[in-house]
Amino acid sequence: MNKIGLGLLAGAATLALTSGASAQPAQCANRINDTLRELLECVTVEGVRVHQQAFQDIADANGDVRFSGTEGFDNSVFYVAPLLEAAGYDVTIQSFEYFANVKSGPAILDQTAPAQVEYIENLDFQKFRQSDAGDVTAPVTGVDLALTDPATSTSGCEVADFAGFPSGNIALIQRGTCDFLTKVQNAADAGAVGVIVFNQGDTPDRVGLDGGTLGRENQSGIPALFTTFTLGEELAGIAGLEMRVVVDAVRGPTETFNILAETPGGDPDSVVMVGAHLDSVIEGPGIQDNGSGSAAILEVALQMAGAETRNKVRFAWWGAEESGLIGSDFYVLDSLTQAERDQIALYLNFDMIGSPNYVRFIYDGDGSTFGLQGPPGSDLIEGLFERFYARQGLAFEATEISFRSDYAAFFDSGIPFGGLFTGAEGIKSQAEVAIYGGVAGDQYDPCYHLACDTFDNIALDILDVNSDAVAFSTLFLANTRIPNLNALERRGYIPPIAERRGNYLVR
Ligand SMILES: [Zn+2]
Repeated sequence: MNKIGLGLLAGAATLALTSGASAQPAQCANRINDTLRELLECVTVEGVRVHQQAFQDIADANGDVRFSGTEGFDNSVFYVAPLLEAAGYDVTIQSFEYFANVKSGPAILDQTAPAQVEYIENLDFQKFRQSDAGDVTAPVTGVDLALTDPATSTSGCEVADFAGFPSGNIALIQRGTCDFLTKVQNAADAGAVGVIVFNQGDTPDRVGLDGGTLGRENQSGIPALFTTFTLGEELAGIAGLEMRVVVDAVRGPTETFNILAETPGGDPDSVVMVGAHLDSVIEGPGIQDNGSGSAAILEVALQMAGAETRNKVRFAWWGAEESGLIGSDFYVLDSLTQAERDQIALYLNFDMIGSPNYVRFIYDGDGSTFGLQGPPGSDLIEGLFERFYARQGLAFEATEISFRSDYAAFFDSGIPFGGLFTGAEGIKSQAEVAIYGGVAGDQYDPCYHLACDTFDNIALDILDVNSDAVAFSTLFLANTRIPNLNALERRGYIPPIAERRGNYLVR
């Protein structure tokens, strides 16, 4: 396990004190916000920012990341869970294990003797995917190389190739005959502390860099780099060669968590789920992706604490989303029985709802724009968000069901879903600028999956509107016999929906 021990209670005790009590109107603390009017008054962008600041502080104290399996993520859990517990929710921290594999820094290949030469990553060499981490400097020993034409290398494929290999050295190996892992594992078994594999050089398509992988099953425990044939051939000819090989990666079985917090009351056979992923990528603190969604649903949960709703409401903060939707998959597909899945009436997903160069996207639940519709009922949830925006004269448009966020497992289970999104690495068009403002030709989120995804990487106006949208959709659906959008119109919370899709402005 990569994980360092939990220390849950110690972390919780100090972090719970940082919650912002003064970010809401005074009356909010003295009543139960069980109507839409009350809840929308009390869910403020200032309240959401308190949680984003807490996530930023956690990242600052933990190497600038909140990636699942790191202290930054665990401390995010310790921040969120106690606040929910104190607010009266039934809270579960669900542990699960996943296989982490991320590059966490540049790879290095340097010649340290007889000359000092720094080679260039992605030009001269690259890290093998699924290489283990390591930072070694040692003499280099070539292993059964076949440099001259026809270069029919079996380098490193047989244990016998390593006869006499000096333990503690770096192995210089040529591609060919067997897979990369066989070569690297044989080297590790022979005592190599690192491996450089160079391309075979037998045909024109086997000279450059090639993006190879050692495979998930790699357990060699040593860093491994891949180089061009040209560089490998050169290195093989240097007497007294000593090199430094560095792979900076987080790799291996890793424990991480989902948080589930549900209302004590409400119909358990009609559960409204509201989720956001809590983890960041390894590159940065993730305060927009997805500190925006996870802070917004937290603030909504806290402000509607104590509300007695018709349906049970279950909030979820997912772990390991950035490693492939692993936490939400685990929860929905592995931890629930079919009977428990059947109790979930619908799922709302909020992943990136404050992009600096935003568009107001709604998941295309009815498939009218992108052709793929969600499970029945997803169309109604899309309609609910459309009405929310339309009521305020705000434009919106559909975004494709792309399975790039935590709704995927719900979709696969036939559970209706919907949600909001303000854009990631996509490029904003002139037409979108005409409607939403912002910068044409830039990404919706210029800091998407980067170190600059900080507290400042947020458009406050859209975060404000979308936090209200989270509050509105959550409480409305919590009290709705699902699906029942017409009641919303009758009660006057929304205008009658017009006959339109796409870029729609009420006025
Ligand atoms: Zn995300």
